[in-house]
Amino acid sequence: MTVELIAVGTEILLGNIVNTNAAYLAEKCAGLGLSCYYQSVVGDNEERLCGIIETALKRSHVVILTGGLGPTKDDLTKECVAKVLGRALYEDSHSRERIASYFEKRGFVITENNWKQAQVPEGAIVIDNDNGTAPGLIVTEGDRHVLLLPGPPGEMKPMFEKHMAPYLNRLQPEIIHSITVKLCGMGESMVETEIGDLIEAQSNPTIAPYAKTGEVHLRVTAKAVDEEAAMEMIRPVTEELYRRFGGYIYTSREEVTLEQAVVTLLEERNLTVAVAESCTGGMVAARLTKVPGVSRVFQRGFVTYSDDSKHQLLGVSGETLKRYGAVSRETAEEMARGAAAAAGAKVALSVTGIAGPEGGTSEKPVGLVYVACFVEGAVEIREFHFKGNRDRIRESSVANALTMLRRCILDAKH
Ligand code: ATP
Ligand code: MG
Repeated sequence: MTVELIAVGTEILLGNIVNTNAAYLAEKCAGLGLSCYYQSVVGDNEERLCGIIETALKRSHVVILTGGLGPTKDDLTKECVAKVLGRALYEDSHSRERIASYFEKRGFVITENNWKQAQVPEGAIVIDNDNGTAPGLIVTEGDRHVLLLPGPPGEMKPMFEKHMAPYLNRLQPEIIHSITVKLCGMGESMVETEIGDLIEAQSNPTIAPYAKTGEVHLRVTAKAVDEEAAMEMIRPVTEELYRRFGGYIYTSREEVTLEQAVVTLLEERNLTVAVAESCTGGMVAARLTKVPGVSRVFQRGFVTYSDDSKHQLLGVSGETLKRYGAVSRETAEEMARGAAAAAGAKVALSVTGIAGPEGGTSEKPVGLVYVACFVEGAVEIREFHFKGNRDRIRESSVANALTMLRRCILDAKH
């Protein structure tokens, strides 16, 4: 069953407000097992609104409209739906009473145009609005269903949850359920190549790769009668992904982030960590400290931007800085060793690089970043060449540093 979303309002068209209703409804509809092939935005204009409703009814089973249900003249949604479906409008006495009591409770004065909101197309199911005055509406015509919801998200969302979602659920008994298998330390194209055969052969469940900074997420989605049945179908696919990617997968739980996985690993191994950062300016520490309970493993973070601070706080030797420069394997290593020693931590991570846009040379171009990871005496150092602007280079540095930290802990002998 297909669904189509139409947001009504000139202010959305002009970019004055963001169409968050579409994002919300698209996600909800996907979860309900509906396939959404079209979304549109149309201004408060009768001709164009009627046009898009007609088009939508030709190609989609369910059409959901938000906005334009209010009391003013430019609120036209209901009128246009009635016109397209050839239904007359009449005053729904129940809605009239609700509107009257809504105003009375708040001590507001009703103006004549408010009664417009009690007008409904013939044959429509009227849905109470618990958070405003304009009721929602469901109008069916053959196998087509038109759902009308108020524009304000605070009214639309509760109405959708309480009334529209159960209605759609009855129309479409199958649900869609997904889980996300999250990988780090392997690029998107490599991941796709490794599972090309699975992607090719897929129909239900499907596998969709999403590239994130320094990570790849594989979303496995199944359509089934209920969540349990969907999980039955998803399980063999995730097992196959674990067989192929093993240690590159850091979680298959929706709520677990890379930093969360790293913190859990540190806790399991009874390790404490310190961080020394130059070009990331504290971003690695910020990501780690996003995790609740991180104080059990996080010792301290150093933001050592200048050569002086690298020397004074981390003990990087003047000789190293002079000979190899602040952005070098040698400095990265001394930063990591120094951070571990200064903090008394068993594990330390350091990052030093050139985030640009200035400061690059032909030998040390913008995007060159060294990450060193110290684990109980041993240090591993890696050289990276990141692309993009300053923000991207810094974010890539953080993600790859965390990935390296995870890898080094896993590889360490315990
Ligand atoms: P009202 O009775 O408030 O006029 P309405 O159903 O007529 O409600 P609109 O007038 O279209 O809705 O929009 C009212 C407000 O709702 C907008 O100013 C905006 O803040 C919010 N809104 C409308 N449509 C959307 C949307 N698609 N995404 C996010 N917010 C929206
Ligand atoms: Mg309005």
